[in-house]
Amino acid sequence: MGIVVQKYGGSSLADAAAVKRVARRIVESKRAGHDVVVAVSAMGDSTDELLDLANDVSPLPPARELDMLLTAGERISMALVAMAISDLGFTARSFTGSQAGVITDSVHGKAKIIDVTPGRISSALDDGHVVIVAGFQGVSQDTKEITTLGRGGTDTTAVALAAALHADHCEIYTDVDGVFTADPRIVPTAHKLDRVSYEEMLELAACGAKILHLRCVEYARRYDIPIHVRSSFSQLEGTWVVPESAVDADSPEGEPMEQAIIAGVAHDRSEAKITVVGVPDKVGEAARIFEALADAEINLDMIVQNVSAAATSLTDISFTLPRADGQTAMKALAALSDEVGFASLLYDDKIGKISLIGAGMRSHPGVSAKFFSSIAAAGVNIQMISTSEIRISVIVDEGLVDDAVAAAHSAFDLDADEVEAVVYGGTGR
Ligand code: ADP
Ligand code: ASP
Ligand code: MG
Repeated sequence: MGIVVQKYGGSSLADAAAVKRVARRIVESKRAGHDVVVAVSAMGDSTDELLDLANDVSPLPPARELDMLLTAGERISMALVAMAISDLGFTARSFTGSQAGVITDSVHGKAKIIDVTPGRISSALDDGHVVIVAGFQGVSQDTKEITTLGRGGTDTTAVALAAALHADHCEIYTDVDGVFTADPRIVPTAHKLDRVSYEEMLELAACGAKILHLRCVEYARRYDIPIHVRSSFSQLEGTWVVPESAVDADSPEGEPMEQAIIAGVAHDRSEAKITVVGVPDKVGEAARIFEALADAEINLDMIVQNVSAAATSLTDISFTLPRADGQTAMKALAALSDEVGFASLLYDDKIGKISLIGAGMRSHPGVSAKFFSSIAAAGVNIQMISTSEIRISVIVDEGLVDDAVAAAHSAFDLDADEVEAVVYGGTGR
């Protein structure tokens, strides 16, 4: 029997009873004869609570200390899960990210894993222990400081461990039965996908479907580790995230499966929109604006520049960015006002992004038309549009996101005949 790598999210570890339930589930795999390695997240919403606490203490906490604080959440879970396993008659060893050999770059708050040296994990497995690793954290190769991987990062810890330990796949246990065609908290008629390709899952995760951390999917694709997303509250088979060729593979009965055109609809309420009004239509103006934002280390998402009005030779440039960077961006742009000579800056953080994702749209005309009409029929105005080969995204008023998601979901016949989407836990925070 091989190595099994499992991840349990905070929603599966909300309280003491949940910790014991997860321990029983882990022990089932150990009893079946596997070597078991588990990555755990902080309990319930405790990461948010630690963040609130930090902000109460200091308006701008130093990034190093914030990482020190947040990693404590996962350390609490790892020790409690190990204790619960020992009560079931098995031995477990918990390790921090650093002890487990999770080596990262030195960027606090969103560190990238650059290597995993799982020596201590392997020896603990050789000694017959179940291994529990604190997720979402590592140690910087250069600075030797403790780092965190960004919100939702325990998914990435799990996949990185699976790759380093040469596991066949990685099991991600959460509070829903798999990856659905939309967030089941918003669209109760969403249906579970049996399989989804790495490419589609990357777009879903990048467009706000927080069921999987974006980096975890990138990592899984790079190392070719299939991910099985499933519920820790049920025994149902979940969703397999696999290469595109495996999505198209025949069904177990040998029937050729026709790939759906659309994999799902994602939404994101974490962005803001900035419009630079009245930019002179001259060579180099856009470059100057975006250089200033790059210098401020701001990642942009959509960018739209209108054709300038002939009479004025002035144009508007709008873009979206993480809300958290909104004020920094406005400051950086205001400093450019004399140099570029734009008329004004507009800031709007009451926006939401809706994205339709599916590899099948490459070969099916009319997908955009149907998407836009469904949103129009719901009475929602589209403010911006962007596309990739397998995705169409629109920006709409934040208050209308739920309506627009539901409308697009129905228009593409994604609604299940019977409601199958169960949300077992979590607060959705
Ligand atoms: P965990 O604590 O297990 O990491 P998360 O809260 O990070 O759980 O992720 C699970 C949540 O992701 C679900 O409860 C659901 O609300 C949300 N979600 C968003 N989009 C999707 C989707 N397409 N399919 C399933 N869940 C989704
Ligand atoms: N506890 C961290 C968070 O809430 C990491 C994770 O849950 O994956 O973002
Ligand atoms: Mg998560």
